[in-house]
Amino acid sequence: MTEQGAKERVALITGAGSGIGRSTALLFARTGYRAAVVDLRADSGARTVELIEQEGGTALGIAADVRKSCDVRDAIDEVARRFGGVDVLVNNAGIEYYRRADEYTAEEFSAIVDTNLRGAFLCAQHAYPSLREKGGAIVNISSVQAYANESHISVYAATKAALLALTRGMAVDFASDGVRVNAVCPGAIRTGMLADVAEGVGGRQEALRNLERNIPLGRVGEPEQVAQAVLFLASRNAGYITGATLIVDGGLLSRLSLP
Ligand code: NAP
Repeated sequence: MTEQGAKERVALITGAGSGIGRSTALLFARTGYRAAVVDLRADSGARTVELIEQEGGTALGIAADVRKSCDVRDAIDEVARRFGGVDVLVNNAGIEYYRRADEYTAEEFSAIVDTNLRGAFLCAQHAYPSLREKGGAIVNISSVQAYANESHISVYAATKAALLALTRGMAVDFASDGVRVNAVCPGAIRTGMLADVAEGVGGRQEALRNLERNIPLGRVGEPEQVAQAVLFLASRNAGYITGATLIVDGGLLSRLSLP
């Protein structure tokens, strides 16, 4: 399936070396976009590029740390040189450490905030001139934890709630330039991050079973199901949508689990 006009368009996806980011890069490439695959590690980004090229798509891998302004600037410059600019920015790179609120170190706090919030801010700021020129769109990957959270995840949840506020703020500021900014809040999605969370609460299989009991649709989501929501919000079909949040959680946030 190709989107009309997508062939001339460029999507930059951060954290595209695995999980939701990789699925998003693959889906955009299948739809006809050229994909700029940004990840901390060159090898995982290169694997995503390889997968896209095997399917006949066009991709460029860039190793960059979204916490570092100079890395982000260089990455955006390289995409401009190779692909002529950025039409869609997907701020997906994210980390979490599973800790009680009183057990985080200051360094862990900063690492989470710098990746999940500062990273998205830096990418949006550096990509903005190009997005403005192209009438582009930003999609920020937040989380259901922005609304309600389990234990041991307070700092991560705080960054994801702040990312929704940043989404609204940027949507308002950038609207006059024709740049739309939206967010997707995934629930429990089958990636390495979910496996780490399950491990953190004492055993992967049991934790996943518990999780699935609490999801009205009865199963964890797949990365491509999140990617489909991102693609929609980035597309011209969502041309009148800005400042919005699309929750992709199988109903998780809609159910009160009272004893
Ligand atoms: P993942 O598989 O761990 O992918 C995250 C990617 O981000 C990794 O490739 C990682 O690279 C990269 N990354 C981390 N720090 C970076 C940095 N400083 N600069 C550039 N890249 C960096 O996790 P995921 O589950 O796909 O998560 C993707 C996004 O969805 C995150 O923002 C996460 O918070 C959000 N989310 C996930 C779920 C879920 O259930 N999976 C639910 C809600 C929200 P390395 O592997 O090389 O470190």
